[in-house]
Amino acid sequence: MMFNSGYLLFALPALLFGLYAQFRIKSAYSKYLRVRSSSGMSGFEAAQRLLRMNGLEQVQIGEIPGQLTDHYDPARKTLGLSSSVARSASLAGLAIVAHEVGHASQDSQGYAMLKVRSGLVPIVQIGSMLGPILFMVGLLLQFTPLAMVGLVLFSGTLVFTLITLPVEYNASARALDMLTTSGLVTSREEERGARAVLSAAALTYVAATIQSLANLLYYASILTGSRRR
Ligand SMILES: [Zn+2]
Repeated sequence: MMFNSGYLLFALPALLFGLYAQFRIKSAYSKYLRVRSSSGMSGFEAAQRLLRMNGLEQVQIGEIPGQLTDHYDPARKTLGLSSSVARSASLAGLAIVAHEVGHASQDSQGYAMLKVRSGLVPIVQIGSMLGPILFMVGLLLQFTPLAMVGLVLFSGTLVFTLITLPVEYNASARALDMLTTSGLVTSREEERGARAVLSAAALTYVAATIQSLANLLYYASILTGSRRR
């Protein structure tokens, strides 16, 4: 059941694309983490400057463990920066900091897609937990309607990843804009580097959407296969 033709058709290509996206972000990140930014500002200092520029002094900046764990938390109004981003004066750090400040500015301006995404989180959490269980139980009991309900619940993840795309692309557009207007990025060369990091990061969100769609199609193919038997 687990390795029907749907696996080769949908799940496997999506998985490979996901691995490729991971490879792209990791290599862009490690490449530009070694490129020192001309501003000489650490990620922490750059975050302070960009927040101030956007009138977002109330946002707290904290250091968090891990790599590429940087994020903005709209509920707590905090910016979490990983140590290597916060402490280095790298181009990768600048791009990531500006992207997260981009999310903070979306939040302060009430950017609609961010609101929709935040509202979806609890629904998606329940759906992604219950969906697969209901689906499996429905299959085992050969009760198709239950499996269908599982599939629909599970599809919330796809909706979430789809809404995430404009949110992420918009945050990166804001980031590039901020980096040039603030004078943190001064040359074409630096702009290209920041763009490379942000595009690689965006690719991981595209991969997540494709993966989510592929999973759904894969489950659907299991269902149609089991009904045919
Ligand atoms: Zn983001």
